[in-house]
Amino acid sequence: MTEKAKQLKSYLETISFYGTAINLVSWDMDTAAPKNGVENLINTLGFLSEKEFALRTADEYGKLLADLSEPEEFDQLDGAMKFTVKRYRKLYEENKRVPAKFYTEFVKARARSRQAWQEAKQAADYRIFCPHLQTMIDMTKQMTAYEHPGMDVYEALLEEYEPGMDSAAIDALFGELKQELVPLVQAISKKEQPDSSVFEGTYDINAQKELQKFLLEYIGFDFASGTTGETEHPYTATISFGDVRVSNHFHEDEAINAMFSAIHEGGHAIFEQKIDPAYARTAAADVYMMGLHESQSRFFENILGRNINFWKPIYEKVGEYLPKLKEIPLERFYQEINRVQCSMIRTEADEVTYAFHVILRYELERAIFRDGVTAEELPALWNQKMQELLSICPKNDAEGVMQDMHWSEGAFGYFPSYLLGTIYDGMLLEEVEKELGSVDEILVEGRILEITRWLNEKIHRHGAMYTSREMIRRVCGKEVSARPIIKHFKEKYARIYGV
Ligand code: ZN
Repeated sequence: MTEKAKQLKSYLETISFYGTAINLVSWDMDTAAPKNGVENLINTLGFLSEKEFALRTADEYGKLLADLSEPEEFDQLDGAMKFTVKRYRKLYEENKRVPAKFYTEFVKARARSRQAWQEAKQAADYRIFCPHLQTMIDMTKQMTAYEHPGMDVYEALLEEYEPGMDSAAIDALFGELKQELVPLVQAISKKEQPDSSVFEGTYDINAQKELQKFLLEYIGFDFASGTTGETEHPYTATISFGDVRVSNHFHEDEAINAMFSAIHEGGHAIFEQKIDPAYARTAAADVYMMGLHESQSRFFENILGRNINFWKPIYEKVGEYLPKLKEIPLERFYQEINRVQCSMIRTEADEVTYAFHVILRYELERAIFRDGVTAEELPALWNQKMQELLSICPKNDAEGVMQDMHWSEGAFGYFPSYLLGTIYDGMLLEEVEKELGSVDEILVEGRILEITRWLNEKIHRHGAMYTSREMIRRVCGKEVSARPIIKHFKEKYARIYGV
């Protein structure tokens, strides 16, 4: 390794120490800190973030990245370091174009907006949130103009979360999905839904936590490189290389949601845990392609977890944790976890109608950034699209346009990645079956770890080295298509609902 490359490695290590501290403080704030400790933790976070940002925008760092981009240096780097120099140099230049004053104002406006959103959502009063949302829209446009001058704002936003996927590609994929799934959901909605009252009862919280541990281990989560915690909304946090944490939220009157959240977050975490250790503290370990990440969590949650054969070898064991389930046959449980029904809240939607929730947000984001739709116009448009796609209408804006946090933080362009993940999953399922044989058989024989290892090998270990599109091309040998997931849904729900 050249002297310059060593310098960059050491510089990135220093940045990563700040990163670890920031991640740890955030995790502690969400999972453990007592009320009176929070204020100090917020200030600590602010202090550490400022230091980290200063390191990432320092002239010395920019010079190092520029030097390493010169052919005589660059050619001597290994693949992960080449990727790192390219990616971090691009980010450095983008960051440098943002005036410091604007950046600070944006950070503050974002914090205020998130606060207003919480308050507005609780009060179901959009007027509290509306001006903040408009500020987020305006500042996002401004920020994008600084970072990506001359680029279409929405394309730039999509590129940030799912590089290599533009709106033309997404239009085609989502359009096909919409066309095929609308009639499927209509057909299902004419069928009788199973009665869910048999699941009513009390589920011991500690038993649910034990079950979560069992499920995580079952799918391949490594407790030597990870742990769990409790938060309002489940998420996965990578503290540092070798320390990946998943959180969950447990309810006493309902256990299924937490089971599937555990499997979903477990999928994200397994991805993070299995990145090649040689990539530690480089850009290659920082998986920012959210569609690919979501494809992994949703593969475990939906493709594997909502297959009856996933449960066959373990259902009796699950019943030991949750005695209520001992009274309910597996077949009935299987119907329940695959109930397809139009509903208001994205995060609670089944895997099929989920597509409509994402398409709705995607269409609205396009309208905001392409057609100049304002915050004031959004609630009515939201309700109209809900009616159009899901045939239901929110009774207030809390369960309508304000249900998700993303826009309140200016995270526009993020939503499509959820559905892209599902589309990739259809292709991955096809490929797994081609290479390993019937997934039903593998699952029923309790050999799920063979599938986990396949994903580790094909996808996880590569970290951020390939965009989702490149990854699908590498693994499946073809271009991204919605056909496989549509086929999967049609076959699966024909069996369950007889449609
Ligand atoms: Zn996820």
